[in-house]
Amino acid sequence: MTQKRHIAVLPVNVANKIAAGEVVDRPASILKELLENSLDAGSSQIDVEIVSGGRKLVSVSDNGYGMIRDDAILSTERQATSKIKDVDDIEKIATLGFRGEALAAIASVSRFRLITNSDDADVGTEVRITGGKMYDVADFGCPTGTTVEVRDIFFNVPARRKFLRTYQTEQTHVRTTFIVQALAHPEVGMSLKVDGRELYCLAGKSTLEERIRELFGHDYNKNLLPVSFSEGDVKVTGLTSLPAFSRSDRAEQYVFINGRAASAALISFAIREGYHRLLPERRQPCVFLFIELPPELVDVNVHPTKKEVRFRKPNDVRDTIISALKSALTIDEGAGDRGQGTEERQPEPVIHRQLIIQDLPEMPVISATADANSVFDQPTDQDHWAPDRDVSESQSDTAKSPWRFCRIVGQMGGLYVVLETEDGYVMMDPHAAHERILFEKFMTDVLNSAVQSQNLLMPETVKLTPKDAQRVRKNLTLFTGMGFGISDFGGDTFVIDALPSFFATASAETLLNEIAHSLDTAGKRGGTERWREESVAQAACKTAVKARDKLNMKEIEKLVLDLSQCEMPYTCPHGRPTMIYTSFKELNRKFARE
Ligand code: ADP
Ligand code: MG
Repeated sequence: MTQKRHIAVLPVNVANKIAAGEVVDRPASILKELLENSLDAGSSQIDVEIVSGGRKLVSVSDNGYGMIRDDAILSTERQATSKIKDVDDIEKIATLGFRGEALAAIASVSRFRLITNSDDADVGTEVRITGGKMYDVADFGCPTGTTVEVRDIFFNVPARRKFLRTYQTEQTHVRTTFIVQALAHPEVGMSLKVDGRELYCLAGKSTLEERIRELFGHDYNKNLLPVSFSEGDVKVTGLTSLPAFSRSDRAEQYVFINGRAASAALISFAIREGYHRLLPERRQPCVFLFIELPPELVDVNVHPTKKEVRFRKPNDVRDTIISALKSALTIDEGAGDRGQGTEERQPEPVIHRQLIIQDLPEMPVISATADANSVFDQPTDQDHWAPDRDVSESQSDTAKSPWRFCRIVGQMGGLYVVLETEDGYVMMDPHAAHERILFEKFMTDVLNSAVQSQNLLMPETVKLTPKDAQRVRKNLTLFTGMGFGISDFGGDTFVIDALPSFFATASAETLLNEIAHSLDTAGKRGGTERWREESVAQAACKTAVKARDKLNMKEIEKLVLDLSQCEMPYTCPHGRPTMIYTSFKELNRKFARE
């Protein structure tokens, strides 16, 4: 039998230690809270130092507005905050902090020192607290701003100390936290010192691009496209990766909601949707997205560390993110006119198409495949593709292209096409490229109901499984819309007397079986729109030049030109890359020329 116990209110000290667990679980979370405080204080420079993965020391020093003595003392009390006054303020929080918990929590589980000075004070203040017990407040001469030093985290809570990982792991978390905040605030100068060594020293007043360059190196930006889109109350800006530059996890997806690093399941979903058909399954893009919306439409008070947020109008947020990404990834400049969304595209690195295709005179022509079945429209006018011909005039000069000009160098490994562009070289997979071209062409036809049918000499009868037959029966109009001549013969049998001309070489039976299958899988995910896309993608794959087909120069030229005019030239409809770009810069580095 357990002994009967009486209820007792916990001493403040104990309550603080328990509550501390909510916001402070490792050095990185301390850093996050301290950085948020420094940012809320309007700092333009923040310097961070950690020792031993932050277990020995996390120190954050800022030049923000600081505190007068009374506030400095109060700031370490629980629920003491200058950021909200009453409950209504929670509805429209504009600062990063507001719970007034962090400093009290941190001070209760460490040896804590706060040094601060404000313009309103004659002299600065130093506050020392050990394990939640204030033991010293003194005058301290220092410039306007605040420094918080947190030493020996969990020295008085062995149970929690046990959960700290190796220095290395904690240091990685600290770095991630630092990077996230640095990305959120390129305007603020920031530095990070680890065990006495300076790891980052980031200039203030930077743009997002400049900050990314400082954090991730020079070439990273090359793989990013600007995002700028708003619809209704929601605005999405930032940078997002070219499809060929994907990752296996979401580690490089940085999302900020009203300046606060945050996550929500619907955002991850929207990001994947934005890249629908552009990435293979299980690949993730790299994104740097800033979502802005009126504070009353987001609830950040869901989670103690404010990492998860809730939206009042989740669908609006989701749809705007999808549209923003789609329009960033779309080469076509008309993209902004499609939705009601107002697109504010930033000036692009690639401006005017000046596609100059030239081949090397000595470049041998690889065995021609110009037979009747060739999927290429053979140019009738042989001079049309003469070397050095600037073909820019034949296109609208507002159109954009992945390269300003390119020169075909040749084909390698009996497969890859090598192109030289203005600042690097591109390896192109002709099969994937052709799939993309055909996919877009077919899709346009399908959407404009302009699909050509080709009558079969002999109508084919196809018997399906009862399930597949049911699916096909339900979607007969979709089939006819895509150029199928199909009729229900009864008993799960269908008669096909015409095929869409882009499927014409395939067998009606295989086709019907495959499409019935894609109808099933796509139907589970997104309905007819998806299904149509999927079957057109399949068709494109079936019809595209085979990977090992030898191409002649004219065919390569046509591929390159057609691809550069695609809306989303960077991947095939199943998300595999069509081209891989390497900059001369990167080459120079590899050759140790830099
Ligand atoms: P919150 O940030 O939720 O208000 P904290 O416990 O993190 O709660 O901080 C308590 C208060 O201390 C803040 O509201 C702010 O007034 C003050 N404060 C904390 N850090 C700083 C800083 N770096 N510069 C100026 N004031 C600070
Ligand atoms: Mg705070």
